[in-house]
Amino acid sequence: TVVMKRQMKKSRRWAKAMAIVKEVEEKCETPIGKLRQVADAMAIDMHAGLASEGGSELKMIISYVDNLPSGNEEGLFYALDLGGTNFRVLRVHLGGREKGVISQEFEEVSIPPHLMTGSSHELFDYIAQALAKFVATESEDSHPLPSRKREIGFTFSFPVRQLSIASGTLIKWTKGFSIEDAVILPNFFCETNLCSNCSFQLIMTLRVYGLAVCFLMARVGQDVVGELTKALDRVGLDMHVAALVNDTIGTLARGRFYDPDVVAAVILGTGTNAAYVERTQAIPKWHSPVPKSGEMVINTEWGNFRSSHIPLTEYDHALDVESLNPGEQIFEKTISGMYLGEIVRRVLLRMAEEASFFGDNVPEKLRLPFILRTPVMSSMHHDTSPDLKIVDGKLKDVLEITHTSLKMRKVVVSLCEIVATRGARLSAGGIYSILKKIGRDTLKGDGEPRKAVIALDGGLFEHYTKFRTCMESTLQELVGEKVGKDIVIEHSNDGSGIGAALLAASHSKYLEA
Ligand code: BGC
Ligand code: MG
Repeated sequence: TVVMKRQMKKSRRWAKAMAIVKEVEEKCETPIGKLRQVADAMAIDMHAGLASEGGSELKMIISYVDNLPSGNEEGLFYALDLGGTNFRVLRVHLGGREKGVISQEFEEVSIPPHLMTGSSHELFDYIAQALAKFVATESEDSHPLPSRKREIGFTFSFPVRQLSIASGTLIKWTKGFSIEDAVILPNFFCETNLCSNCSFQLIMTLRVYGLAVCFLMARVGQDVVGELTKALDRVGLDMHVAALVNDTIGTLARGRFYDPDVVAAVILGTGTNAAYVERTQAIPKWHSPVPKSGEMVINTEWGNFRSSHIPLTEYDHALDVESLNPGEQIFEKTISGMYLGEIVRRVLLRMAEEASFFGDNVPEKLRLPFILRTPVMSSMHHDTSPDLKIVDGKLKDVLEITHTSLKMRKVVVSLCEIVATRGARLSAGGIYSILKKIGRDTLKGDGEPRKAVIALDGGLFEHYTKFRTCMESTLQELVGEKVGKDIVIEHSNDGSGIGAALLAASHSKYLEA
């Protein structure tokens, strides 16, 4: 009977754990009707955001990019890409319509630890010096004309209130950054102890309890280009910042340079966002003269979208409340790479606590926020070995959970599936909403059907195969048979960097457009 009792206890626990999973599954459901509601709600918010400043939680930021690269751009241009998962400097040599991109080089710059405890000045200077060093490797024949300064496009992947094409102020931090002057936050996405995502405002990184902790100094309202320019001046680098852009805008520019049918760009990475080409006529809050093109690129900042139609669980609510930006970036928190693994962790923790899923004791590591990173979740999700060896290995290495049965590992995989599927389907809903907004969601029936290409980039899109394929098939469900024919998803590789260089070219002070 002791054996029987133990058996009964075990099956009670299992049933409880399965009930938790089932509830998550039901709460995360995204039937096509719901996705259409999400898309409609987002379209309404887009309209409101275009109507007036602050009119909607979708900021619909005017990028001041009214001419995307045409392919005619020529010369040597630089880019600085800060705020994605890497800090990089790039040089792109453009050969105009005939030769296209002649060459592109980039360097990933890491910041040495001794500077991480220094002042922000030192760090700025270091970045400017890294750029100066990179500039010094220019070859003779690629040198820009002596009559003009070197120009640089600056990608800064946070919401920025653009004041012009080359200036803007930080509206708020996202992706775990705080809006305070100085904050402490766990470093979720870096392999090294350097958080490149903090960009140039990173002051230092410390290791606490095995987690990297970043100290950020940044003020909302800070002039992003001004800070960079001051640093460039200090190291005597005479460069002109020709464009300040969001990563979505860079991705759109990179996409358009190669393919004139590109109408929108989406980032699915640590964070998520979308930009698209709007007619200025459809932007009531645009009071300036209508640009020649009649068009304006809009940075939607869709990560901040929220709606009662977004399926949320108690785990999402808890994550949000405990986050550095509660109540904000709700769409992003259900979709992007920064959060997916964390949602899975929260469910597993509940299963451990309330259903002793991993045995009598709750695995201590499971209590650490953000310890289960999305790349780990992805590799568990993609495990095809018959005994789920990879899941077993990850649970051991990351969470120090040593004994799991195959049955348990299967549950872990299904949880990854549930959370990733919701994110992927919601992102498809977002894309569908943009297609609707610009009237490209249905065939027009009048003559030639125009192709609509959406440029995508970001680690989630690139590396989380099941996420990507689910997003693509959901978009197919939403628009019908058109995906792949009239509506095409294209990988805009490295768009955030190269695109900024291209935009520096198309907004050059020295080049005729
Ligand atoms: C930021 C956006 C950015 C996106 C992707 C979001 O958190 O608010 O500005 O484009 O992440 O990097
Ligand atoms: Mg990036």
